[in-house]
Amino acid sequence: MRLRVAVIGGGAAGLCALRHLSARPDRFEPVGMEQQAGVGGTWRYTDLVGTYPDGTPVQSSMYKNLRTNLPKEVMAFPGFPFPEELPSFMHHTDVQNYLERYCSHYGLERYLLFNTKVQQVTPLRRDSKTEWNVTYCTNGKQHCEIFDAVMVCNGHYEVPLIPNIEGQDVFQGQIIHSHDYRSPEAFSGKRVACLGAAPSGQDISLEIATCAQQVILSHNKPRLPTVLPENVNQKTGIKQLTHNTVVFNNGDEEPVDVIMLCTGYRYSFPFLSAECAVTIEEERVTPLYKHIIHSRLQTLSFIGICKIICPFPLFDNQVRFVLATLDGSCPLPPAADMEADIERDFRQRLAEGLPARHAHTMGSRQWAYNDMLASMGNFQSIPRAIQNLYDEVHRIRVLDLPNYKNRRYKITGEEGFQEL
Ligand code: FAD
Repeated sequence: MRLRVAVIGGGAAGLCALRHLSARPDRFEPVGMEQQAGVGGTWRYTDLVGTYPDGTPVQSSMYKNLRTNLPKEVMAFPGFPFPEELPSFMHHTDVQNYLERYCSHYGLERYLLFNTKVQQVTPLRRDSKTEWNVTYCTNGKQHCEIFDAVMVCNGHYEVPLIPNIEGQDVFQGQIIHSHDYRSPEAFSGKRVACLGAAPSGQDISLEIATCAQQVILSHNKPRLPTVLPENVNQKTGIKQLTHNTVVFNNGDEEPVDVIMLCTGYRYSFPFLSAECAVTIEEERVTPLYKHIIHSRLQTLSFIGICKIICPFPLFDNQVRFVLATLDGSCPLPPAADMEADIERDFRQRLAEGLPARHAHTMGSRQWAYNDMLASMGNFQSIPRAIQNLYDEVHRIRVLDLPNYKNRRYKITGEEGFQEL
């Protein structure tokens, strides 16, 4: 039987889902829905922040000068490399071009509805089977269609996570989230505190430092062991704001003009009806077996929920795992067993000292996770060379933040890589 599969989103995850679904026309009939006019998702850069002239929110969190924080050698989808002539750490436009070529190479346009926003997804119980009623709006016209399965690929870098900071109402300066950051010139001569030292905080603080008078990289992680430009200092997290200063957790106080919140994003699935029974608590999305499949509605899956990963290869693995569950080659355990597995994974993270909001953080866990999906789904996992180079870049980045992107690499075999 052919399954009709709705794919929500035409970013990297949605394109990957369409690629694998469309390769099996005997089993799957995919329909991709993308609210924007083209593919690429967060890589579709715009100078605009806030909303487009027609009032729709700007989805992209890219900034003008962004170069990738991973080398192209590990970023690529399996079997579809980036062009050889590009540097390892590419400009964001190179990634957008790559995704457009991926789309046309696999002929995915014909499965995609653009300017199409999914408004509601509702499960329909028919006999022992669950079907999905998907309501979407294309160019102002509403449609309803029934699908056998839904793959949610809507990304999670659009809705800013804004912390509640004491004194933010009295602070006279500017408070901006990195979602709305585009270029450093706006901060010429200013004193800026960047809150958060994940990849965005690290990258944006250095960019702003090229124009700003002073930048404080404020975070509660161990001090980054890197040399930083003279006008960048590391300080602890922010405790409080006064009308023109920041008070840090260690009691230090500094005058600042701008707070740049590099504090991450929230998961958001506004189109899932209450009957989908998906909950988000402290940035933990439940009940997702292996961070992907709804334990009680198994034809509802989510690609790309995991954080701190090598995104495109991991999406590819997750998609292939979902297809193996849909075509029956990877039977799923009973719901109760899946829920016990979800809980075990979460408890293990807490036991290792991670806060609940890191329920989907992978980091070094991602390699065993990828291998497990591949073994369950009976396909080949990500080559060790990708892991080895990814780990090397993570090691080098914190030692040499200002310069690590100048390096060039080459994959030399199943396990190896070489710095050129
Ligand atoms: P997205 O790219 O966000 O795509 C989701 C798509 O779903 C969007 O096109 C959106 O319009 C659509 N959508 C959402 N809701 C609906 C709806 N209701 N109806 C229809 N369509 C909908 N990764 C790397 O590998 N290397 C990097 O260097 C790197 N740098 C990054 C820098 C920044 C600033 C950010 C924000 C991310 C970076 N990433 C990087 C991670 C990046 O998010 C992933 O690489 C990947 O692009 C995520 O793809 P996605 O498809 O999951 O989400």
